[in-house]
Amino acid sequence: MVVATSTWVKKKNVPYKKREKKSSSKHLLQLISTSHSLLSVEERETDKEMEDVRVKDEALRLIGLFEVLPRLVVFDLDYTLWPFYNELHSKRGMPYLYPQAKGILQAFQDKGIEMAIASRSPTADIANTFLDQLGIQSMFVAKEIFTSRTFKADHFKAIHRRTGIPFNSMLFFDDEYGNIDTVSKMGVTSILVDDGLNLQELHSGLQKFSSPNEQI
Ligand SMILES: [Mg+2]
Repeated sequence: MVVATSTWVKKKNVPYKKREKKSSSKHLLQLISTSHSLLSVEERETDKEMEDVRVKDEALRLIGLFEVLPRLVVFDLDYTLWPFYNELHSKRGMPYLYPQAKGILQAFQDKGIEMAIASRSPTADIANTFLDQLGIQSMFVAKEIFTSRTFKADHFKAIHRRTGIPFNSMLFFDDEYGNIDTVSKMGVTSILVDDGLNLQELHSGLQKFSSPNEQI
């Protein structure tokens, strides 16, 4: 019995095996890529850029609705900015973001609101390669990418040390409840995303930051 108990305890501390989540937007991406397969690469890139501009304009409109804004917006990577676990891919892979993520990042950049990354990925080298390939690496004033058993408490302490920005001036997006629970108790307005960063989650985040006591 003792052996069984210790095995269970040991097992409990081992992270569960990462498998790609089922995501409706993944299916949507597949549908989009099928319907776009008759278009040239240039036409597809122009389409994507036009969509990024549309999302950015809408994100700027949403940001403009609120008087009280965060000074720093922090994003998780896997299943928040992109729909996969980067550790399951090679550096030579072709990364892609959730459809509305780029436009939202561009809107925060335009508004002069700083951004950071907090990721528990064990493969910071792959994550950084993907951020480079996606052309968004330079958008972030801090990037904390390391495994941790404190959920993201250590990540946020490091981000605070690096930026000097207080926790209550930060807004955080992540897809894991444990991270949201831990970081919100530190005073950071935290939003649990269901299917990646999109305009709806942005609106929820801005609203919660602006009126933290109201139920949304
Ligand atoms: Mg995640």
